[in-house]
Amino acid sequence: MDVVVYSAKKYDRAYLDAAFHSKHSATFLDAPLTVKTAELAARHRAVCAFVNDDLSAPVLSALAHVGVQMVALRCTGFNNVDLSAAHELGIRIARVPAYSPHAVAEHTIALLLALNRKLHRAFNRVRESNFSLDGLLGFDLFGKTVGIVGTGEIGRVVARILVGFGCNVIATDPAPSDECRKLGVKYVPWETLCRDSRVITLHCPLTPSTKHLVDAKAIQAMQPGIILINTSRGAVVDTRALIQGLKNKTIGGLALDVYEEEAHLFFEDLSDRIIDDDVFARLLTFPNVLITGHQGFFTQEALTNIAKTTADNLTAFESTGAPLHEITAAAFKSSPSSR
Ligand code: NAD
Repeated sequence: MDVVVYSAKKYDRAYLDAAFHSKHSATFLDAPLTVKTAELAARHRAVCAFVNDDLSAPVLSALAHVGVQMVALRCTGFNNVDLSAAHELGIRIARVPAYSPHAVAEHTIALLLALNRKLHRAFNRVRESNFSLDGLLGFDLFGKTVGIVGTGEIGRVVARILVGFGCNVIATDPAPSDECRKLGVKYVPWETLCRDSRVITLHCPLTPSTKHLVDAKAIQAMQPGIILINTSRGAVVDTRALIQGLKNKTIGGLALDVYEEEAHLFFEDLSDRIIDDDVFARLLTFPNVLITGHQGFFTQEALTNIAKTTADNLTAFESTGAPLHEITAAAFKSSPSSR
């Protein structure tokens, strides 16, 4: 099947080409999917899109207009898709439900360890022959209470690692996991998790109910000096409230792999440009903020699995008319947590 792949980077081309073999033929575009670029998919039955591509109703309508019948997301989250519009237009939406929870979980732990032990600062100091330890003091994770928000695929792997560190793991999730319970994870209400955690890490999807879950009120309820890690979706936290929390020292450390307005920043080399997002620029000024540009998923294993599942979705759609891992508006309504 002929597929247009939007937002395609060098690594996407390599992994998708290998997975598509002779089964599917890809046209790779650097450009993101938008209303303007949708028409580039003319004469193709399917498009392949990523996390920050625009799949709102006007874009889906433009895709349908040029004959696109299927969107293969090469990611897990689908908060960028208007599923009702897709359903009405008859466009089938597929995703990669799980490609490597280990990739994101291990990146989460990397952020936590780096932030707590100030590795980002130590790295720069040592390069300048500054071996002073002032300002690099961390704390033992052993014995500390860590709160996990969302114990799905990724949250469960994070829980396993943290239990291995000797942490006391507590969690919130509307659908608690038996595996986590067996590990000794205690499910508590959100307010308790905010109050009792020394570290909080977010692994829930972005839905209307989790948008700005971490807002000014939640931050106020947290322990002074809380370490907060977000590798889920940017809008699960209210970034302006985080900045206030950092300024008044309620937040002692913040690590982000995702950002509410990341679509205009991440995945591109902007090193010779002026960043005109003042909120993001302010975040970069704090010594206790560590940001990576949505790289949690970025391992060889994850890219291999993403490409394989994307190829399987396209093959199934071509032969049966339905992708293997389809997201339907009905499924979303009955199970908002599957996002
Ligand atoms: P998942 O669907 O397996 O798990 C999500 C869990 O969150 C579910 O158990 C669900 O019940 C729970 N949940 C839903 N609403 C909640 C709420 N209000 N409070 C607490 N828990 C809630 O998803 P996953 O594969 O573990 O991925 C989690 C999220 O991580 C994805 O939705 C995606 O946004 C993000 N993600 C980020 C990257 C990255 O590169 N940074 C990569 C993949 C996924």
